[in-house]
Amino acid sequence: MSLNAVVTQRCPKCEDGKMFKGILKMNQTCTHCGFKFEREEGYYTMSIVIANFFYALIVAPTILIMTALDVPIWKIAVILGAISMVVIPLIFRLSRTLWLHFDFATHRE
Ligand SMILES: [Zn+2]
Repeated sequence: MSLNAVVTQRCPKCEDGKMFKGILKMNQTCTHCGFKFEREEGYYTMSIVIANFFYALIVAPTILIMTALDVPIWKIAVILGAISMVVIPLIFRLSRTLWLHFDFATHRE
């Protein structure tokens, strides 16, 4: 598992082919070596857990800081909505990449 391949969201096997072909759309196989990214049905369920962890790391401090500063709840909701529009796609991609690389590193076939 190379950090460069995770950051650039490349295939865990060859570290060359791109995992994603759009903001939220994944390639089914590696464009370079043909490695199958969706290894079984429901394969990315664990990445949802990882994504929720990262999202909580952003949302919880934001809420705590803003409530400490007496920011009205509607403003907190608007700010969190705006933050979420940006970070959710990033977290989605990162969590899937991390899960695929971790699983490939621990269960090579
Ligand atoms: Zn590959």
